[in-house]
Amino acid sequence: MPTHKISCYILDGSFTYRGVDYSTLHHTLTKADCILPRWAWKRVADNDPEIKQTAVWSTLKAQGFLIPAGTDEFQLFLEWRGDHARNFNEVKSRVLYTRKCDNDCAYCSLMPHLRRGFHMSAETARLMDRFHAGFIAEKRPLSARDAFLGGEPFLNYGVMCDSARRRFDCCQALGIPYRFSVTTNGKHLSVARIDALLECGLETLHVSLAGRPGCMTACGPPWAASPTTRRCWATWS
Ligand code: SF4
Repeated sequence: MPTHKISCYILDGSFTYRGVDYSTLHHTLTKADCILPRWAWKRVADNDPEIKQTAVWSTLKAQGFLIPAGTDEFQLFLEWRGDHARNFNEVKSRVLYTRKCDNDCAYCSLMPHLRRGFHMSAETARLMDRFHAGFIAEKRPLSARDAFLGGEPFLNYGVMCDSARRRFDCCQALGIPYRFSVTTNGKHLSVARIDALLECGLETLHVSLAGRPGCMTACGPPWAASPTTRRCWATWS
């Protein structure tokens, strides 16, 4: 009898690197991420006794990827929704301003054909922000926080910046603190752009450099091993 089962709230992607197939796992409730060789993930799914003795097993349990076999996951979801999705003390959203990216990281969760996709239009952004403003006005949270993502969001900088400004103005009019983060590949940053975003509530900039030197060359795009990137690492470390 299996003691554990794989949670049904996992997004499962895959990629191949140097002839090895990997699974990329994202748990939509715990927000945990994991990359495992596909053979190892299969052994986990099979409740293989040997893998149960390893740190992989205990880590996957701790992060919610593995749950006791008898767990009612729908009940779990209802409790999670009560704690998170229906808690309006802080209204949070994640916005993808584009699917496009000019990097090609091996570990990217967007399939290559999606990275050649499309930008969010200015009109769509305006409609989205109108909905967001209505929601904020109705729920009156204590604060509002957004995560701006892509693709590479700076490839659609104008739309992102206008949208941030609208959200900032809406919250300011209601006396609600507003802040946001941007996740970027770092290739399109400038002082002027950052200054403009800081005026609208930019709090955090996540820059993906495809890992530390050594790891970069193995997993990242060719430019990741460039002298500029190494200088960035030296400065930020
Ligand atoms: S920078 Fe981000 S979106 Fe672009 S390829 Fe790398 S992981 Fe994917």
